[in-house]
Amino acid sequence: MSGKTQSVALLPGGSSSNGPSSSAEPLTLGVMGGGQLGRMFVHAAQTMGYFTAVLDPDAQSPAGRVSHRHIQTDYTDPSGLKELAACSAAITTEFENVPAPALRELAKLRPVSPGAEAVAIAQDRAAEKAHFVKCGVPCAPYAVIESAVQLEDALSKALLPGILKTARMGYDGKGQVRVKDTAALRDAWQALKQVPCVLEKMLSLELECSVIVARGRDGQMVNFPVQRNLHREGILAVTEVYEGHLSQALQQQAVAAARSIAEGVNYVGVLCVEFFVLQDGSMVVNEMAPRPHNSGHYTLDACDQSQFDLQVRTLASLPLTQPRQHSAAIMINLLGDVWFDSKGTMRLPDWAAVLALPGTHLHLYGKTEARKARKMGHLNVTGVSGADVRSVALKAAAILGIEAF
Ligand code: ATP
Ligand code: MG
Repeated sequence: MSGKTQSVALLPGGSSSNGPSSSAEPLTLGVMGGGQLGRMFVHAAQTMGYFTAVLDPDAQSPAGRVSHRHIQTDYTDPSGLKELAACSAAITTEFENVPAPALRELAKLRPVSPGAEAVAIAQDRAAEKAHFVKCGVPCAPYAVIESAVQLEDALSKALLPGILKTARMGYDGKGQVRVKDTAALRDAWQALKQVPCVLEKMLSLELECSVIVARGRDGQMVNFPVQRNLHREGILAVTEVYEGHLSQALQQQAVAAARSIAEGVNYVGVLCVEFFVLQDGSMVVNEMAPRPHNSGHYTLDACDQSQFDLQVRTLASLPLTQPRQHSAAIMINLLGDVWFDSKGTMRLPDWAAVLALPGTHLHLYGKTEARKARKMGHLNVTGVSGADVRSVALKAAAILGIEAF
């Protein structure tokens, strides 16, 4: 949170909380980025009666297509930013690579959450890890590599085998190379064009989990239950949240860590923190996402408020109440792969068969082209117990040709 702070509630229905309503014209909430996270934010904001504005250069962007207004410019275009600020009462972001300077500009004119500072930290793995250390939350052993000298230094730190990750612009496992030995590390850094990187020790993971917190401008914080995640090839595949999916002790540790990471940067908005649980039972933080997160999509159907509802509330300075999970849940990511059969021929997934299963909720993002590894949608399965949702989710996965979990 930075710049023009705003603790006056931007109430749905066109008024602000400190005076009589001057107009019934709904307030507009703005979002930088038009991907699926922006689309689900737009849906939540519109449900509460706001108008929405999306800034994204892509005419086909999932959020732009469902928003009242779509400003189709580059993220740094001064006229686009000016237009967004002019029509929006407050502005949020939906992907972490939104240029931090653009957020700083917007924050001079309107409340912006999360703030540029938090987004800038999350955009840079080196700054992010330094922030975790500052907050007293352990992360994987690592070294920052920005020069040939630092690369040689890193060799003495027992980080191999490891993963070399570009410091900036990585997502869904992109910009990462697994390196076994010194020669592979040198080659990998060359292949990544010697951009600033972080070398992380490869850890033996017992499991992965993440937690979503929402923090208001007044510092009030609430959290969702901790979710257990399965990644395949660096991309989230499945999230499970039900009684017994994770020990209470682990959940408490994750929530406490996420809360201190949010507090440490005076965070405003929805924040996801991802963790690794190691084979010795210890937990280290992996990374944070300054926005709603793929692993929180189960909240759309399994909780009394979704992560996008809380993004709206934190942005509009509305009250926060602790969300409650009312159903056991499994979320299965629907990658473009599902649109191809085993021979690589394109086909339409059998949605009717999936939707004939009890407790299935299909969410498609309106993308017009299915490509392998592209996030096209997700399927939530809700039910009364973990056993119940697992049995249905596995049937759905089999229908869609997704590997069992
Ligand atoms: P996203 O932002 O989409 O979550 P990303 O590209 O930022 O992904 P990471 O979260 O760094 O990538 O890594 C992706 C996955 O790779 C992790 O969820 C984990 O399964 C594996 N991984 C990453 N770092 C390590 C590590 N140090 N040891 C073991 N596995 C790792
Ligand atoms: Mg990750």
